[in-house]
Amino acid sequence: MHPLHFLPRLRFAQAALALAALAGCASTPPRPVPPSVAPAAVSPTIQPDSDAQALQLGFARWVDGFMASARAAGVDEATLHAAFDGVHYLPRVVELDRAQPEFTRTVWDYLDNTVSPQRIRLGQDKLLQVRAEADAAAARFGVPATILAAIWGMESNYGSNYGNIPTIDALATLGFEGRRADWARGQLMAALQILQNRDIDRAHMVGSWAGAMGQTQFLPSNFLAYAVDADGDGKRDIWGSMADVMASTANFLARSGWQADQPWGTEVQLPPGFDVARADSSVRQPSGQWAAEGVQTMDSTPLPMLPDAELLLPAGARGPAFLVGPNFRAILRYNNSTSYALGVSLLAQRLGNGPAVQAPWPRDLQALTRSQLQALQTALNARGFASGTPDGMMGPATREGIRSFQRSVGLPADGYPDVGLLDTLGVK
Ligand code: CA
Repeated sequence: MHPLHFLPRLRFAQAALALAALAGCASTPPRPVPPSVAPAAVSPTIQPDSDAQALQLGFARWVDGFMASARAAGVDEATLHAAFDGVHYLPRVVELDRAQPEFTRTVWDYLDNTVSPQRIRLGQDKLLQVRAEADAAAARFGVPATILAAIWGMESNYGSNYGNIPTIDALATLGFEGRRADWARGQLMAALQILQNRDIDRAHMVGSWAGAMGQTQFLPSNFLAYAVDADGDGKRDIWGSMADVMASTANFLARSGWQADQPWGTEVQLPPGFDVARADSSVRQPSGQWAAEGVQTMDSTPLPMLPDAELLLPAGARGPAFLVGPNFRAILRYNNSTSYALGVSLLAQRLGNGPAVQAPWPRDLQALTRSQLQALQTALNARGFASGTPDGMMGPATREGIRSFQRSVGLPADGYPDVGLLDTLGVK
């Protein structure tokens, strides 16, 4: 047994009793508990470990404190018992929450995986199976069935993998652990409201280690705000009811600014000599203005009418270009990652028998590791190209710093962090 699993199921009062009974052997070094005096609640074979005891006791105390706040906020006793009688501290959730991967994926690697031929074929089959539910949601909320199916595919591989971690345990662990305690407390309070509403019971309220639930991975706060009971059984069930899954996802996007009469965007080609620094989320204008600057679709048909469009160069100046509008930004509200939003958009396009990306990806470019990006940020800052805090993460400040440097040496100012920049800067 992992030491952190010691006393996993005990609430504070029970844990305190059990630990009091063990007090004689809690001093260091721990001794085995003689079977004759071992408390019934604890196996005599468990070796008490002071760190594990402290952790479990701390967790039990945190849960009791949280329950008091929940009670004060109007959560009833039956719900509190259902939620916390068997609550578990999950060490793996803490490990995953603290993990900061050293290696990042390029956008083409990500899309190879998420918009694979297999994912497209499976999605077309799955879309046939949920056609009625997806079409009903599309008609009611104005979000195409292909977009809903694409989100379903990206979030849980069409419901085949939405996570089996009890949401209450995941959020209680994150709330206790503390790195983002306020956020986790808010989500846990929302999860209790869902249980109290009887939309789902504790045993079936499962999802990812980070608290995202059901087939399209709603956080509890988003569930309260956007989940829809579309099949009329009185429960909002994003785990077992495809009507509810599709309607809830469509409602989320509609309320996040989805425009029923617009596409997500389109792949485009840029004229020779185009200033790639204009591919930035702060530069938005009607597609007519982009057309006037020479931006064209791949087949030279007119650009879609987007009132508020921005250019996207997800792999820098040498890669494909996209013109995206408000619907792309609505997908970003679902998950704030450009790669994710592009994955949803392109998967939906393929599910509707539309084209794949036509321009080649610059597959010879290598993604910077986290420490390489940190070294790049440090070097740029040292040379006066302000790149923000050297944290190994791309953000607007780092993109601007890279652009300034690229301009200073006569490179296209795409702000894309490739390994070649490290050489140009003389960073080893
Ligand atoms: Ca329902």
